[in-house]
Amino acid sequence: MKNFQNSVDAYKEAVDLMPGGVNSPVRAFKSVGMSPIFMEQGKGSKIVDIDGNEYIDYVLSWGPLILGHADERVVEKLKETAAKGTSFGAPTILENKLAQLVIDRVPSIEMVRMVNSGTEATMSALRLARGYTGRDKILKFEGNYHGHGDSLLIKAGSGVATLGLPDSPGVPESIARNTITVPYNDVESVRYAFENFGDDLAAVIVEPVSGNMGVVPPQGNFLQELRNLTEENGTVLIFDEVMTGFRVGYNCAQGHFGVTPDLTCLGKVIGGGLPVGAYGGKREIMEKVAPVGSIYQAGTLSGNPLAMTAGYETLNALSESSYDDINQKVERLMEGFRQAAEEFSIPLQINRAGSMVGVFFTDEPVINYETAQNSNLDYFAQYYRAMIEEGVFLPPSQFEGLFLSTAHSDEDITKTIEAVKKAFAKINK
Ligand code: PLP
Repeated sequence: MKNFQNSVDAYKEAVDLMPGGVNSPVRAFKSVGMSPIFMEQGKGSKIVDIDGNEYIDYVLSWGPLILGHADERVVEKLKETAAKGTSFGAPTILENKLAQLVIDRVPSIEMVRMVNSGTEATMSALRLARGYTGRDKILKFEGNYHGHGDSLLIKAGSGVATLGLPDSPGVPESIARNTITVPYNDVESVRYAFENFGDDLAAVIVEPVSGNMGVVPPQGNFLQELRNLTEENGTVLIFDEVMTGFRVGYNCAQGHFGVTPDLTCLGKVIGGGLPVGAYGGKREIMEKVAPVGSIYQAGTLSGNPLAMTAGYETLNALSESSYDDINQKVERLMEGFRQAAEEFSIPLQINRAGSMVGVFFTDEPVINYETAQNSNLDYFAQYYRAMIEEGVFLPPSQFEGLFLSTAHSDEDITKTIEAVKKAFAKINK
């Protein structure tokens, strides 16, 4: 058994200092019945906790670290940048460099604005869509997460296409009423929503691959249908690519699926492990943002030199073949999961888009929030704890995907498959 005493002690100290002892709720490990593991360092595909336990890491800071931990190219440039000063409150060339790279790679982006998180990106994109169209309502999908902005922290009411309900105390009902929530991958419900609210729909916001109910890819023509319906109704289509951006493919999910939205939100990989978000899109829309236009949005540390450096160096290190390499490893890993599930008669569905992988303990295909809920959470918790014992660090929730990086080796995959077999063998049914 691994020893976690230092983590247990650190957590005791932390709970007095921060709500739940953490700065983001999912780090509390609640859904797997464990005390949080405190990390000390990472290199490549490995991380080490404060008790000295080493893990192959499939969390990768919840997605950003596509090159793995402490990539030397990124670290060296960060040192150079830090030595020159960390923030000026005036423009730097580093911002131009990252903006140009993003514009070159993301099909929908003609102009971009840097912010500090994915949440800021989606909040700002919504304000822009509302200001641009002069409409108030937005449509989102059940089980999609877009950060914790008031308009987006909304759950579905009952019914086909319902006005939303606050998902947290503190979100006013008057705001929730402007958010319509429909099931993911359900074009008919979207059509119904347009029939009822079309004239007042400012935006449809969607994760082009959903990564926040486990990984659920779009089915059939889902994204293209959203493109058609939004175009017909003068509604802004926003792809929230905070998770999928530069992860599902070299040109993001929109390049991969060949559907171009009006606006795109980015985060995670674009900051290479530092706090960055961005939103961008058609010039005609982006030019409504202050100071060119009248839609206000700003940030003291937006475009921060360190964040721009980490983002630029990370994206610059990726080529189309980097994605092919990761994809091959993903396929081997998935095959290992499938074989282990068969060997030990474990109900399992694996969804995947690029290097985002969703492993669900259910026999039924997972295509939306409702089907994701069929997963056996007890099996997940048992599997999770066994994987930790085997030295594999996974997102501590059934409803989060796991990520691979360019730093994951064939040996890592072999070891992980061995660990999966041991974990599945131990699951108490
Ligand atoms: N959008 C998506 C699709 C996300 O996955 C996340 C975070 O996980 C966010 C937005 C919010 O980003 P952040 O946590 O950087 O605010």
